Amino acid sequence: MLMFISQVCNIVMLLVKCTFPCPRNVLLMTLNGSQFYTYSICNVEEREQDNWLRTTFIQRHPLASRVFVELKFIVRDCNSFDGASLICKETFNLYTSESDADVGTTFRKSQFKKVATIAPDEITGKNEMHINTETRVVDGLSRKGFYLAFQDIGACIALLSVRVFYKTCPGTVQNLATFPETVAGAENQPLTEVSGVCVDNAASEELPRIYCTEEGKWAVQVGQCQCKPGYEEVKDTCQECRPGSFKAEASSDACEPCPANTDTLEHGAVLCACKDGFFRAPTDPSTGPCSGPPSAPRDLSAVPQPSVGRLILSWTPPEDTGGRNDITYSVECQRCDGVVCHPCGERVRYEPASMKLTEARVSVSELEAHLNYTFIVEAHSGVSQLAGEAQRPPSRSNVTIFLHYTGEHPPQITTMRLVGRTSTSLALSWDVSPRPRPQLNIRYKLTYHKKVSIFCFSHQECPEIKLFVLCIILVLCQYGCFYLFIPFFFVFRKRNSHTRQGPEDTYFSTPEQLKPLKTYVDPHTYEDPNVAVLKFATEIHPSHITKQKVIGAGEFGEVYRGILKAPGRKEVAVAIKTLKPGYTEKQRQDFLSEASIMGQFSHQNIIRLEGVVTKFKHAMIVTEYMENGALDRYLRDHDGEISSFQLVGMLRGIAAGMKYLSDMSYVHRDLAARNILVNNNMECKVSDFGLSRVLEDDPEGTYTTSGGKIPIRWTAPEAIAYRKFTSASDVWSFGIVMWEVMAFGERPYWDMSNHEVMKAINEAFRLPAPMDCPSAVYQLMLQCWLQDRAKRPRFGDIVSLLDKLLRSPESLKTIADFDPRVSIRLPSTSGSDGSPFRSVSEWLESIKMSQYSENFTCAGIVTMEQVLQMKTEDIKNIGVRLPGHLKRIAYSILGLKDQTSTLSVFAV
Ligand code: AMP
Repeated sequence: MLMFISQVCNIVMLLVKCTFPCPRNVLLMTLNGSQFYTYSICNVEEREQDNWLRTTFIQRHPLASRVFVELKFIVRDCNSFDGASLICKETFNLYTSESDADVGTTFRKSQFKKVATIAPDEITGKNEMHINTETRVVDGLSRKGFYLAFQDIGACIALLSVRVFYKTCPGTVQNLATFPETVAGAENQPLTEVSGVCVDNAASEELPRIYCTEEGKWAVQVGQCQCKPGYEEVKDTCQECRPGSFKAEASSDACEPCPANTDTLEHGAVLCACKDGFFRAPTDPSTGPCSGPPSAPRDLSAVPQPSVGRLILSWTPPEDTGGRNDITYSVECQRCDGVVCHPCGERVRYEPASMKLTEARVSVSELEAHLNYTFIVEAHSGVSQLAGEAQRPPSRSNVTIFLHYTGEHPPQITTMRLVGRTSTSLALSWDVSPRPRPQLNIRYKLTYHKKVSIFCFSHQECPEIKLFVLCIILVLCQYGCFYLFIPFFFVFRKRNSHTRQGPEDTYFSTPEQLKPLKTYVDPHTYEDPNVAVLKFATEIHPSHITKQKVIGAGEFGEVYRGILKAPGRKEVAVAIKTLKPGYTEKQRQDFLSEASIMGQFSHQNIIRLEGVVTKFKHAMIVTEYMENGALDRYLRDHDGEISSFQLVGMLRGIAAGMKYLSDMSYVHRDLAARNILVNNNMECKVSDFGLSRVLEDDPEGTYTTSGGKIPIRWTAPEAIAYRKFTSASDVWSFGIVMWEVMAFGERPYWDMSNHEVMKAINEAFRLPAPMDCPSAVYQLMLQCWLQDRAKRPRFGDIVSLLDKLLRSPESLKTIADFDPRVSIRLPSTSGSDGSPFRSVSEWLESIKMSQYSENFTCAGIVTMEQVLQMKTEDIKNIGVRLPGHLKRIAYSILGLKDQTSTLSVFAV
């Protein structure tokens, strides 16, 4: 683009010196219909001509350091004069002089610098006229203005016009970046670098830049602006995605239609929410389709194979897979007696397994004859857990089969349970195997005898009971399950420790929730702990186990990663806990107690026990292998890299595992992120069930005045004060785990001492919201930390709430108030010893961002003074890209500037 400074043709020029009468030299001419003045001279026959014509003062644009001067002129051919003069010239000179002010008519030749000698391309003869156009560049201008001057040295010339201009690159929008109009060739540079800004609703990782060439053309753009999530490019602007479409990331892509089973009514959607009845599994991408739970397996059939003592169940996959391909099946076995059904118990064997079956077939063995069995096969997928019962299509099929009794042996009593009691009676039930034929008149004999002579008559004195029978009674009955009432006279054996939940703890134990067959059994109630292990865990032969690599250190010995290859089963990756040599019998029993406990659980979010080695010198516990190890370390290693949606998905898994444990009346007591394991699919599983672990194992355990070691930061006040461990105290710990998860593995209460933590909690202070924590999630944490344990939510409530949040990811968008000075507990002006940070690397280490040390050094940021000057943009520019890290560093700088940082303000 050309910018005219001066178009001289129509302005009166100042003739500064002429050797001929001046008025004759200025003529009004008409050319192509336009009138303009021409300046002419023709002293071709006079020697030593030195005639000057100077312009008026020409103001310069401050950025235009080079200007172009275009001249239109006529030069007469010297030969066209009769008796051609030897002294006649055919050229003239262009001069310039810079000045900061208009000097009026003052003229000093010496102040002018020659720019060029101007010669015509075509000279004008006697009969024809040629107008020449020449353009010259005047460079390196720096003062407020300048003059041009033309020197004639004896030619016959007419100056028709002078145009003075500079070039610019015009203001433009290119690739969603706006660049301002820019003077070309400023400061003698062939290319001028120009910074731009992204248009509204666009952003760029790098500052957008472009070059303006000398010729006033734009060239080579750097730094691509892209429309932000929820916006797409429409003619140099970013427009909101229309309802029904979305864009999840900043990119140059257009908005995409919502994927299958999702929708959004909003403009500018970043994600599409699942339609009613459809879900995303925590491992599903949030931009992908939603899917529904599967329908029931079809054509379920049970075919007995008496010769090999087993039954084959087979079925065809569900008609509707809900759009997923991760369908698995579980099989449940019930022994039904009329309308009453009981789970078949642990004796029944399934090949290959009873859960997570991928084939539509399972073989069932160890069944008793003469019984009605009902098998329930359920189809599952990644979203089954998310679909509330009510919304789920029927996903179960069942088949009932009666197994014939072939022998004449008397039935056997398998298990006996206490199902009720009053002050004068006890109700007992037991299972009979095989089930007696109805026509058989079966008699049962109940005997009892005194075991130990410690009498007690209230459960406060005898928190755990073990019944030994006092009298003999004969009862006639015809069915497999019986109740009898016996007058009281009981002998109880008092036990001291490890009661997971005392009988007075009705917190989760409403009568309808009491499911005797699913209640956790304390291995200490077994006389011989070895019997308990064998009851709840499968014995594995050591030759089936291959140890590969040490992955951790447990209380009793190393933990290895390895392979389990049981006969007839596929190889599976496992974790192998070992018992170090030189153990005592008590240590061996404590070690194996973890397996006795774990073996009672079967839940997706509880670490699964594969089996134990007890019959060989080196005892081992073999569990499923969790590729990503302990949750606290995993989160620290992925700080800022996991979305809130995924974090809440992980919490949902932990809550589901804890609900299962609390339903079984098991109180964990040491729920903390370090005791949660994470697998390849980012699924979280609760682990660490040893009986002695809170006392011995956990490095967080601290002795309290109420006795015993307690991980103070994770433990509810009533459990610290008077050892009141219940599922409600586990809920408190779950709240702390939520905080650890949302803060990417930050240590709860940072470097406060245990004493300070207890004091703060008693004074009603609670941990503040972690950075970027959804408000709803933080509210749930606060509920878990209510002083009154009866008011805390139950794990069932927590699972439902987290499910609800996951079903509508929009609900996670409202972020809880966050005060960086309180919530990150960033050091203010000093390091841990109270002295100012001595170096940038010391400061980075204190905020756990040492990995960026090199970025700071390379960018020349080597002193804390320089750090304090940094803006968010600067931090980004030196290569800190992850939003979480960016914020942490920016907030730390904020904290360094504000020395009033203190933790004492997080009251709720
Ligand atoms: P623990 O004795 O259970 O606390 O285990 C010690 C460490 O071994 C844990 O912190 C984990 O890093 C690792 N570990 C234990 N069990 C497993 C497992 N099933 N899969 C992977 N790593 C495990």
